[in-house]
Amino acid sequence: MDGLRKKDPEVYRAILDETKRENGNLELIASENFVSEEVLEAQGSVLTNKYAEGYPHARWYNGCHNVDIVEDLAIERAKKIFGAEHVNVQPHSGTQANMVVYFAMLKPGETVLAMDLACGGHLSHGHPHNFSGKFYKIVPYGVNRDTETLDYDEIGSIARECKPRMILAGASAYPRMLDFKKFRQIADSVGAFLFVDIAHIAGLVAAGLHESPINYAEFVTSTTHKTLRGPRGGFIMCRKEFAKKIDSEVFPGLQGGPLMHVIAAKAVCFKEALSPAFKAYQKQILKNAKALAGEMAKLGYRIVAGGTDTHLFLLDLTAKDVTGKDAAAALDKAGITVNKNLIPYDKKSPFVASGVRIGTPAVTTRGMKEPQMKLIAHLIDEILSNPADEKAASNVRKEVKGLVSKFPLYKSLVKALER
Ligand code: PLP
Repeated sequence: MDGLRKKDPEVYRAILDETKRENGNLELIASENFVSEEVLEAQGSVLTNKYAEGYPHARWYNGCHNVDIVEDLAIERAKKIFGAEHVNVQPHSGTQANMVVYFAMLKPGETVLAMDLACGGHLSHGHPHNFSGKFYKIVPYGVNRDTETLDYDEIGSIARECKPRMILAGASAYPRMLDFKKFRQIADSVGAFLFVDIAHIAGLVAAGLHESPINYAEFVTSTTHKTLRGPRGGFIMCRKEFAKKIDSEVFPGLQGGPLMHVIAAKAVCFKEALSPAFKAYQKQILKNAKALAGEMAKLGYRIVAGGTDTHLFLLDLTAKDVTGKDAAAALDKAGITVNKNLIPYDKKSPFVASGVRIGTPAVTTRGMKEPQMKLIAHLIDEILSNPADEKAASNVRKEVKGLVSKFPLYKSLVKALER
C-alpha cells in the first residue's frame, strides 16, 4: 500500500489503525470474522472496475469474459457446498438478498410470519423502519418464556391464525439449532412459502454441523461474511422453478451492476469452505462457544436458553446489575469487543439492553482453542464484576495484549503497513 500511503495518508492511516485494532483486540462480535489474505487480494483487485449488468454469458456490457469466469466459479462452488439448485451471488448484502425474496414473491401488504427482533430476529425480518416492516404485514413469533427456545406448536398456531403468505426462519441472536423440518410442516399446513435466512450459521451449515434448510425451503439467503468467513456480501439459493424470478428481482429489480471484485472474493471464500480445514475450523468454533459459555456459567452468569449449540450465546446480565450497553463499553475499553443485545422479554430498551451477545468465529480464526476460551471467560468476568474500575480495565487490557500476540493476524500485512 505504498502508493496509498503517499497519495492519501489519511485513508492509509485509518486502514493501518484498523489492522492494528483487529490484531490487538479480542473480537467476540458473533457476526464478524477475519477473512484470509487471499479473500482480501481478490476483493482488492481490478475487478472493481468492471460493469457487468446481467448474468454470466448474458451481459449488457462487453468485455465480461473474465468476470464471467469468476461469477461462474462462485455459483458452482456455492451450489456444491449447499446442494442448491440455483444460486445468485450478486446481492450486495444480506439485507438486499432478503429484500429480493420479499419483492419477488410477495405483494405489498401480504403477511409474513417472522422471528421477533426482540427474541433474536434480524431487522430485515420485519423492523418497522426497515423495508420489511414498511411494505409487509409482519406477524412475529418469539421464544418460549421459560425455555427461551422456539416453540414450534405455538408458531404453528400463530400461522393458522394469521395465514401468512411466507414464513421466515433464521436469526441474528438465537443460540440453539433451528428445526427446518418443523418449519416446513408449519408452512405446508397453511400453504406458505418457507424462506430461511442462514446468514449467521452459513459456515456451520456448509460444514454439515447445522442441519441444512436446502431441502425444506423454497428460498435460502445468507451473508458471506459471518461464520462463512468471506467478504461482506449476500447470496440467494432457491429451487430452479423460482430462478428467473429471483434473478430478475436482483437485476434489474433491486440492483444495477454487480460488485465483481466482491464476487471474486466470494468465489475464493467458497473454495475455502469446500476444504477439510474449513470443517475443522467450524467444529472448533462450536467447541469454543461451548467452552466459553460453559466457563461463564461456572462463574455464575446466566446463559440465555441454557447454553449454545452454535457459534454464539447470550449473557443475561440482569443479576450482575450492569446493562448490556455499559458492559459492552467497559469490555471495549479493556480490548474485548462484544455487542449489547436484548435478551428474550427484555425489560430494557434495545439501546440499553440487559445482555451481551458473544460469538467465537473470529477468535477461532486466530487459532484459539478451549484453554484460551477459559481465560477469556475470566477476563470478561473481571471486567463485568468491576465495570467502572480503571485498574481492572488496564490489567485485562494487558492480558488481552499478551493473549492476542500469541495468535497474530495478518502478520505480513501489519509488517508491510508499518514500514
Ligand atoms: N440476516 C441475518 C440473520 C443477519 O444477522 C444479518 C446481519 O447481521 C443480515 C441478514 C443482514 O446482513 P447485512 O448486514 O449484510 O445486510
